[in-house]
Amino acid sequence: MSRPGVLTGSAMLVENGRITQVGSASRIENLTQAKKAKEVDASGCVVVPGLVDCHTHLLFPAPRLSDYEKRIGGATYEEIAASGGGILSTVKAVRSSTAAGLEAAAARSLGLMASHGTLLAEAKSGYGLETGLELRLLRALHRVNGPAEVVPTCLGAHAIPPEWKQNPDGYVAHVCGELLPEVARHKLAEFADIYCDDTAFSVEQAARYFEAAAKLGFGLKIHASQFSSIGAVELAVKWGALSADHLEAIEPSDVELLARSETIAVLLPVSVLHLGLSRYAPARSLIDAGSAVALATDFNPGSSPTPSLPLVMSLACAQMRMSPAEALTAVTINAAAALRRVESAGMLASGRPADFALFNVQDYREIPYYLGANLLKLSYRAGKPVYRQGGI
Ligand SMILES: [Zn+2]
Repeated sequence: MSRPGVLTGSAMLVENGRITQVGSASRIENLTQAKKAKEVDASGCVVVPGLVDCHTHLLFPAPRLSDYEKRIGGATYEEIAASGGGILSTVKAVRSSTAAGLEAAAARSLGLMASHGTLLAEAKSGYGLETGLELRLLRALHRVNGPAEVVPTCLGAHAIPPEWKQNPDGYVAHVCGELLPEVARHKLAEFADIYCDDTAFSVEQAARYFEAAAKLGFGLKIHASQFSSIGAVELAVKWGALSADHLEAIEPSDVELLARSETIAVLLPVSVLHLGLSRYAPARSLIDAGSAVALATDFNPGSSPTPSLPLVMSLACAQMRMSPAEALTAVTINAAAALRRVESAGMLASGRPADFALFNVQDYREIPYYLGANLLKLSYRAGKPVYRQGGI
């Protein structure tokens, strides 16, 4: 993670949406002239792979401004949820949205994310919590034609819906027996995710969910140890989950487990910042122990309303002691691995899709360094411009 492979004085040749050559600028310029190709001048800039956001809840109809004010006033995440805010208030908004409204909401989020360099984004359902609505959310994610590519994940077990409050086991059985098979049948998601914590689903319930999801061929993901350590990491490793996400409350033994596994640790520092908390996930221990770490925005209307991976990188460096190189790896190739996209995303090399972003900086370390600045100048997806500072 500490060796991003920086080239200087170099250029790339792009043909039919793919990178066909990477090498010295003079050699590529000769080829460009011979092929009468269009030249994009990146001098004075840093070109990075299109950023990959591997954990988001980007499809939400509206911001949660009253939760925001309540939190500023001192209410906790749990108190806000208990007073009718939190995840369930977004579920209510989704239940009264049209299909077109959901698509527009997803497109808006993707536009914001792309304006900070993201070209591939995971997007979870989880605000329907009922088979028909979860399918509607996943369909909207498939249909949306935004500037970034979307990888949908089924998060049917995000929260316990009000109608199942007295019978959470029954809800898990319902999700395993009806929702997941429907999602698999219509091929609407590659991954299945569950929120496992004191205030959400138990480890036993998550194990049942993983069993059903694995049988149906889903890759497994889990919201693990955000607030409390109840054994979610152990479960993730046991089931060979592709990623265990959050990890703010993990124990040293979990760090060892993750380091010895193939499960990627996906860390979400903006949710810690935005909730006014101080316990960040132990990125340094994870990396030093040999774990693969990825970073993501967790873009959602409650705990992390940011579309910006550069901001996530800044926090990872300043608060979690990741180096700028590690942070860059964590939002490119490692994030691509957390979405099973290592062959096609997160790296610039010959033969790969020409998905890249130009930042208006001379050194990649400036991307996290200028905290809160949006220094993206241009981005290209499959060789076509999708973002230009000041408009395409
Ligand atoms: Zn999340």
